[in-house]
Amino acid sequence: MRFDVLTLFPELIRAFRTTGVLGRAVDQGRVEIGVHDLRSWAGNRWGQVDDEPYGGGAGMVIQAPPVLRAVRDLRGEGGGPGRLVMLTPRGRVFDQHLAEELAGAGRIILLCGRYEGFDERVNEILEPEEVSIGDFILGGGEVAAMVVMEAVARLVPGVVGDPRSVEEDSFTTGLLDHPAYTRPPEVEGHGIPEVLSSGHHERIRRWRLEEAVRLTVERRPDLIRRHWGLYTAEVRALVRRFGPDLARSCETREDGDGGG
Ligand code: SAM
Repeated sequence: MRFDVLTLFPELIRAFRTTGVLGRAVDQGRVEIGVHDLRSWAGNRWGQVDDEPYGGGAGMVIQAPPVLRAVRDLRGEGGGPGRLVMLTPRGRVFDQHLAEELAGAGRIILLCGRYEGFDERVNEILEPEEVSIGDFILGGGEVAAMVVMEAVARLVPGVVGDPRSVEEDSFTTGLLDHPAYTRPPEVEGHGIPEVLSSGHHERIRRWRLEEAVRLTVERRPDLIRRHWGLYTAEVRALVRRFGPDLARSCETREDGDGGG
């Protein structure tokens, strides 16, 4: 999997590239992260790539020509056209489904904005996929690009040591993850659920599933509604126990779908 990040702050991405699970994946050659300073395509000696907005108003806008040149050069270097992603608050909201979709691409080029964002002609001409990481405004697209890279890289085989960690993550299963505990057995008077030290695998599995369903019913009923069709009979029964009204509304909707 190769990421190419086009940015005005390459040092941010360089630090990220060498750290933690991703840093190891880069060392092992499972993931490549190319970092590209947009100023290299500025077309002037000062490396300026922004200008005032037509029509006036606050802030500067990133000019289109340097971005067009950069993307064309990166694509020309080989590695396939890949998917072109622009980080922008107006984009499709990033989630685990989009991470899974992007993980199937061999290469992703990420465009990080700054200031007031990009000249609209970048979008008109290159037609990037516009991706937001949520309904808030960051100062630049670099942190958003790191979010996308980290979530996608975790799905590349071998990046996370034990594949079960990925399979059991929140959102992959359609449930929030169950709580986890580690040593010491007591912290300021708080112990651990007795079942976890019982050594009884089936009871532990059942407790974890119950906790996952309970938490999801309480905190993210929208996830339950969205994934109801994918749940096993065991999960559905637990939803009925922790959120009877929620389960009924899912069942009613399912019956309606079946009849329609
Ligand atoms: N005026 C712009 C607006 O309201 O859409 C905000 C521009 S923001 C200050 C600068 C850059 O940060 C954007 O071009 C984008 O690359 C990035 N950015 C900010 N918030 C983001 C978000 N929620 N998701 C993805 N990228 C974001």
